Amino acid sequence: MPLVIRLVEEWSFIMGVKPTKITFRKAKKRWGSCSHANELSFNLSLAQLPLECITYIVVHELAHITHKHHQKAFWQCVNEFMPEYKTCEKKVKKTSLRPSKKIKF
Ligand SMILES: [Zn+2]
Repeated sequence: MPLVIRLVEEWSFIMGVKPTKITFRKAKKRWGSCSHANELSFNLSLAQLPLECITYIVVHELAHITHKHHQKAFWQCVNEFMPEYKTCEKKVKKTSLRPSKKIKF
């Protein structure tokens, strides 16, 4: 998915972080993830989302390079680079990946 790779390159530069690897997989429960070794993984179904949502997921995973949790500091970081992230998050949550409706990322 060249679009996602381009977004990761663009946003990692803006955010001053560097993922070690980018992989794509078919997942049922996750849009994306960031490992402890800062390897990012994205769901192939990302392609069905609008661009702003894909961007949000990229920013979200890149923020995990600095913050390996979902605590306040993490959300402050996301908000700093993408103040409109809440709208995107709502849209992402409405788009369910079958069969699971609860999607983590
Ligand atoms: Zn997360």
